[in-house]
Amino acid sequence: AFRLARAESLIAAVSDHPTPGVVFRDLTPLFADAEAFSVVVDAIAEPFAGRFDVVAGLEARGFLLAGAVAARTGTGVLPIRKAGKLPRETVAESYDLEYGRATIEAHRDDLPPGVRVLLLDDVLATGGTLAAALRIGERLEWDVVGCGVVLELDALAGRDALDSRVVSVFHV
Ligand code: IMP
Repeated sequence: AFRLARAESLIAAVSDHPTPGVVFRDLTPLFADAEAFSVVVDAIAEPFAGRFDVVAGLEARGFLLAGAVAARTGTGVLPIRKAGKLPRETVAESYDLEYGRATIEAHRDDLPPGVRVLLLDDVLATGGTLAAALRIGERLEWDVVGCGVVLELDALAGRDALDSRVVSVFHV
């Protein structure tokens, strides 16, 4: 508990980023600290222990978590990427941003139907990103066991947009 509290204290709050009025939560100091990163990787995996075959990470900071959780739990890792990066046939889903839309995608054939997938990202805000990832998983017939994030921004109620189990290590 002390090690988790110390990890939480390493999350920086950056006022007026990327636009005035927004408080951006920057997790890079936490990720850069060996003990903090380790305790967070354990905390995000533990609720789903033994129940997933692959960890899918959302570009870009979700990749850092997904690779670490996969290596620690002896599972595979899969990147869910921003549009246009993956070279083979993909399944894509779009979602609304404050200004405009974004699209993420996964390779259609990297995983077999029925595979048990844990979705990971660094921050849960409105839930648009993870909701799009869940739709990709549905279309590819993955068995998504849940979504894990390091930090959930409670005021944005993102978990209400997700038809899945959601585990957050920290809340603000
Ligand atoms: P959502 O789709 O609104 O839930 O936003 C989540 C996505 O935006 C994640 O991929 C996050 O990395 C990113 N994001 C949103 N707000 C923040 C923040 O305050 N700090 C870091 N990343 C954020």
